[in-house]
Amino acid sequence: MNTLLTNVRIATLDDTFTIIDHGYVVITDKIFTHVESGDPPEHVKKQADRIRNMQGKWLLPGLYNTHGHAAMTLMRGYEDDLPLDRWLKEKIWPFEGKLDREAVTAGRALAMSEMIKSGTIGFLEMYHLFMDDFAEQIKDTGMRAVLTRSVIGLCSREEQDAKLDESAAFAASWNGEADNRIHTMLAPHAPNTCPIDYIKRIVERAVDLQLPVHMHLAETKKEVDDHYKMHGMHPLDQLDQYGLLNQVQWLFAHGVHLEQKHIELLAETKALISHNPISNLKLGSGMAPLSQMLQSNVSVSIGCDGVSANNTLDMWEELRMAVLLQKGLLQQADAINVKQALRMVTKEGATALQTGQPGMITVGAEADCILLDQTAAHLQPEQQLHSHLVYAARGSDVTDVYVQGRSLLENKQLITLDEEKIRFEANEQFAKVAHSII
Ligand SMILES: [Zn+2]
Repeated sequence: MNTLLTNVRIATLDDTFTIIDHGYVVITDKIFTHVESGDPPEHVKKQADRIRNMQGKWLLPGLYNTHGHAAMTLMRGYEDDLPLDRWLKEKIWPFEGKLDREAVTAGRALAMSEMIKSGTIGFLEMYHLFMDDFAEQIKDTGMRAVLTRSVIGLCSREEQDAKLDESAAFAASWNGEADNRIHTMLAPHAPNTCPIDYIKRIVERAVDLQLPVHMHLAETKKEVDDHYKMHGMHPLDQLDQYGLLNQVQWLFAHGVHLEQKHIELLAETKALISHNPISNLKLGSGMAPLSQMLQSNVSVSIGCDGVSANNTLDMWEELRMAVLLQKGLLQQADAINVKQALRMVTKEGATALQTGQPGMITVGAEADCILLDQTAAHLQPEQQLHSHLVYAARGSDVTDVYVQGRSLLENKQLITLDEEKIRFEANEQFAKVAHSII
């Protein structure tokens, strides 16, 4: 299959941030075989099975959302005003206790439809229910994903081991599946929900399976203060004391309450951070030291977390919030520049999700790209393309999405998902679960 996209403005986001003002790309099977300026020559047109004129659109790499809980999408707007510990105990966990297979599946389909329509091509799921079902859903939908069957260790040793075995078996069976679009990690939920000896056993299993480990880290001040009271040290220092940071590739979500010495430790051990600014703001958790992390060469990508604490999966909104927060709170207009910002949602996201892809539009890379309608008033004048992508673009500007050369969205219509059915089932399942709690 040979697809030719013509008449398009290309933001390659490659090493030199090349912009091709008028060009074309050829996708042969799942690979970009041409990324060129000008119009395609006749022989290229003749070889194409499908030619699409993309006049009036920008083509760029797809976005990556590196931390979330898609299964919680039905909980969007369920509680808006509680801090994290009370929010979990009083609202989220009781709701989750009533989730069945149909409800979880409906929430995840809703999440994927929202992500594809706003230009996200890959995401991380941290959850404990029906993970095999989700892997099957993703296989059909065509997105990229890291799937983790997360574990909470506040239980007996037997239960801990059973959860770890289930998590490891899931990870081993799905890693590299769906044409290498699905990868897996092991995932202790957090240092305050998993005792350190359990985290140690999880890391040992990850070493055996050659998998990375994903975990929430230092999300709230309370969690860190409690850790100091119980263990006399910061949770990251405890992981370091047990020698766990060097044994595997870590991807931490949040990292809000970190001191400079912790940032240096992250850099030294090449741990990755998923920064989730809107969730951190909404739950009153604080603001991660993003600018300091970037200055210390920590690889930072961006995540939306669950929509129960966000409340959207729009990565454009998330990115803009990340950048503006740093500038305002540090009173420093150059705290993060446009190029650093774009890297976080493309290249760094592709790295965090273990895709093996560059997160750039370049010949030889797998054909992952999104297209935006450049005619919107808020994207004029159109010359300042990179700036607009960070400060003006919205999820609703996305018109088309390709992953590994397969079309997932065309002219704002989902190709691999049925939007109307998803909307109906999400509302039906929410009503069912909410009713069962009352
Ligand atoms: Zn989370």
